[in-house]
Amino acid sequence: MDQRTAEPDRNYSISPVSLYGEFTLTGNPKVRCAVSLTERDLIVQRLTSAPAGRSKVALSLKDCVGCRAYRADDNADPAAYLAVYFYPLTRRWMSPGRSRHRAEHSFRVAALQDPRANLEEAEKWARAVRERAARPQSPRSDGGALSVLSRPSRMMLLVNPQSGKGQALTLYNNHIQPMLNEAGVTHTLVITERQNHARELVKEADLSQWDALVIMSGDGLLFEVINGLLERADWEEAIRTPMGILPGGSGNGLAASVHHYSGASLVSTEELLVSCGFLLCQGLVAHMDLVSIHLCSGLRLFSFLSMAWGFVADVDIESEKYRHVGAARFTVGTLVRLASLRVYRGRLAYLPAPEDDHSEVEGSRNDVTLRCNGQASSPDPSRDSPRPKTFHNSCHSNNSCKARGRRESAPCRSASGALAGPPDSLLPPLDQPLPGDWVVVQEEDFVLMLAMYQSHLAEDLLAAPDATPDDGVIHLFYVRAGISRAALLKLFLAMEKGAHVGANCRHMVHAKVRALRLEPLSPKGVITVDGEVVEYGPVQAEVHRGLGRLITG
Ligand code: ADP
Ligand code: MG
Repeated sequence: MDQRTAEPDRNYSISPVSLYGEFTLTGNPKVRCAVSLTERDLIVQRLTSAPAGRSKVALSLKDCVGCRAYRADDNADPAAYLAVYFYPLTRRWMSPGRSRHRAEHSFRVAALQDPRANLEEAEKWARAVRERAARPQSPRSDGGALSVLSRPSRMMLLVNPQSGKGQALTLYNNHIQPMLNEAGVTHTLVITERQNHARELVKEADLSQWDALVIMSGDGLLFEVINGLLERADWEEAIRTPMGILPGGSGNGLAASVHHYSGASLVSTEELLVSCGFLLCQGLVAHMDLVSIHLCSGLRLFSFLSMAWGFVADVDIESEKYRHVGAARFTVGTLVRLASLRVYRGRLAYLPAPEDDHSEVEGSRNDVTLRCNGQASSPDPSRDSPRPKTFHNSCHSNNSCKARGRRESAPCRSASGALAGPPDSLLPPLDQPLPGDWVVVQEEDFVLMLAMYQSHLAEDLLAAPDATPDDGVIHLFYVRAGISRAALLKLFLAMEKGAHVGANCRHMVHAKVRALRLEPLSPKGVITVDGEVVEYGPVQAEVHRGLGRLITG
């Protein structure tokens, strides 16, 4: 190999050239290239004639997950090879946005007669590329308390083979296993055998063996893992284990959120998988809000994505039967449910997040609320009819509440001490009145209640556009009864791009809150947490800012 120091090319990179070499392309030995490595790019210039303007390309190392140096199988061949793996953002034909696609660049290193010397040269390049490849060098400078997974990292990768269309394992084999190998990420594949398998596994696991727990499924499997971690005696340490998400299910809300936080545009399911795989290889770890949820039976669980009641919860559950269509099941379910739109009766109250105490955002100006201390927060006091200033749960009048395990006295008491996981400081026991600084929503007739703590409810539902992983906020949405089918459909269509928030729909309210309480009054209904059905009845929630760790963009 011809080795010398080259002048930096101002057109392609302002950083100096660290390595320079001349190789042939692995696939086409007739094409000779001059290859320069800078801090930012791998610059490949064809020395053999090529169409003008296309003879030189700068491959950004930001898009590189790793590389490999190896000898040819053929012992008579003294050459070594250098393969560099990129996943650049490219625009595909007919596709509106850019998405990541694999691009391997492979070079034949054969300047010397000695095979060992060629391999050493290729390995030197591989080390240099790896040092500069897609690895965020330092945590975020704005104090977001990020870290980067150490290398080599050991991941437990849990796959639910039943999730989505039942293709999670195929998707793993086709996309994720090769990508993790290219990135040099060692992982152990665990295929779940049944519901709660993952939960039991992480509850007992020796977590010191793992740098990260990665879930390839829908949101349901991560729900298991998070609750398993928080059921451990050492929950405080356990919940700091970084968690990664790869979309393999039909409800991939967190994966879509992680992709969205990376600044990328809406993509198809398989493109979303490649994007999340790429972010996993980068290994940037952020804090993630978790929400503690108290059910009427006294059970407490933890949620990372959403809580829903009414329309959204019904669609989620009813659309299970359309899971063979993948993420489109929610669209089908929404249309079916719209045809039989119903009203859900209940009482809702919330504790506003400090920065949003009085000012709910777009679309909420007509909201009529009454503070528990009796101060109307409506801009139109004439609309305030006398309402009870507090509400607490009516477990006894609600059949579905007499669930298993409910003790007669104080079953909903704050979990501090009694259960693993952090104590809740904002929630009184579920059967006790709320403090004076809570807002009680005046209406009792709703079409839906949706609490979001990450941006996406599903792949194409940007429900909380300004949510960030650790903003410490529950983005509470509710839609009052009286909305027409057409207006509701319009809201859901607008949600694809997050435009429902600014749509000024007078039936929809969006409030940023720290805690909430919902008491359903309709005798039948569904409440979902992260897409999983939970006990129906009074329920309350409190956000724990940045309690979890998420591998994100
Ligand atoms: P999807 O988005 O396709 O619904 P989820 O990850 O949400 O995928 O999983 C759906 C449900 O399957 C969850 O309740 C999860 O706990 C459960 N589950 C996990 N592993 C298995 C398995 N091996 N067999 C059946 N169900 C499982
Ligand atoms: Mg949040």
